[in-house]
Amino acid sequence: MTDSFDREITYLRLSVTDKCNLRCRYCMPAEGVCSLPHERMLSQEEMVMAVRASSELGIRKVRITGGEPLVKKNILSIVENVAAVPGIEKVAMTTNGTLLPSFARELKSAGLRSINISLDTLDAEKYRTISRVGNLEDALKGIECAVETGFERVKINTVLIGGFNDDEIEKLAGLTLRYPVDVRFIELMPMTQDDFFSPDSFIPGSVVLERLAPLERVAPDGSVARLYRLDAALGSVGIISPVSDLFCSECNRIRITADGYVKPCLHSRSEFLIKGLDYDGMKAVIEDAIMSKPARHSTLSYEERSSAGRSMNAIGG
Ligand code: SAM
Ligand code: SF4
Repeated sequence: MTDSFDREITYLRLSVTDKCNLRCRYCMPAEGVCSLPHERMLSQEEMVMAVRASSELGIRKVRITGGEPLVKKNILSIVENVAAVPGIEKVAMTTNGTLLPSFARELKSAGLRSINISLDTLDAEKYRTISRVGNLEDALKGIECAVETGFERVKINTVLIGGFNDDEIEKLAGLTLRYPVDVRFIELMPMTQDDFFSPDSFIPGSVVLERLAPLERVAPDGSVARLYRLDAALGSVGIISPVSDLFCSECNRIRITADGYVKPCLHSRSEFLIKGLDYDGMKAVIEDAIMSKPARHSTLSYEERSSAGRSMNAIGG
C-alpha cells in the first residue's frame, strides 16, 4: 500500500529475537540488557500471521533479522513458514554469520534466497574489540559457507567507523574480487552510548569513494545503497548513507520487533503493538502504522542521537 507521502511500502524487516551471541559496540550495551520474558515476545504463529497481514497490505519482501536470527531455536521453521506466505516473493536474512555453517543448507531449502553477513574488519583483534566477544574466523567461515551454499546473493555489511576500519576500506572492498559478494559500507548511526566512539567515528560514506577511486557506478538494485564496482570484481561495492544523505523519501520499509511492535521508522519512538491481536486486528494496526510513517527522521550525528528509544538489537536493524 501507499503511505501518506506516496511511498509504496513493500518491505518488512521482521526481528525474530533481541538476543545475540555477539555484543557489537554500536548495537548493544556491554551489560544490562534484560531480555523480555518469553510470553511477551511474538510467537512463531503470530510472526507468520503478521507477515500474512502485511502481505495483504502489499509487502513483497521480508528480511529476517534480530538480534541474531540464528540463535532463535525455531529459525528454520520461521523461514519456511514466512516463505510460504502467499504474496511474499523474497525472504532474506541479516546475520553476523558466525553460526551459519550449521544452518546454511537448511536455510536455503527452507526458502531463504539471499543473505547479508555483517563484517566490520578483517583483523582478528579488531573483530574481538568491536564485537566484544566474537572470533573473526567464525564470521569468515560463515561467509565462505554462504558463498558455497549458492544463495542468490551474499552481501557483506560493514559499518564504517572513523579511526577504526577506514584504513581497511580497500581490503574489505577487495572481497568482491575474491568472492561473488557485494560489500556495502553503512554509515555508523548513533544508537548506543559507548566511550569507544567519538565525533571522529562518524565519517561519511563518500570516504569510500575517495579511497577506491576510480569506481565504476552501476545500476541500483532496488535497495537504498548507491552501487559501484571495482575493475574485474565479481560483486558490487555499495554505500548506504543514513546519516549524511537521508534516503527517507525512498523508504519502502516497516519493521516488526521481536516483542511485537510495528515500527514505521527506525529513528522514531512511535510503535504500534500487535502482540496478542487476531488477524484482523493485526492487519488494521499494521495499516495504521504504515499511514503514520513520518516523511523523514530527524538529523543524526554524534551529538544528535537516534530517537529510536531502543538499541539496535531490540529493533531489528
Ligand atoms: N545480528 C545480525 C547482524 O549483525 O547482521 C542482524 C541484526 S543487526 C542489528 C543488523 C545490522 O545492523 C548489522 O549489519 C549491523 O552491523 C547493523 N547495525 C547495528 N547497529 C548499527 C549502527 N549503530 N549503525 C549502523 N549499522 C548498525
Ligand atoms: Fe548482535 Fe548483530 Fe547487534 Fe552485533 S550487530 S550485537 S551481531 S545483533
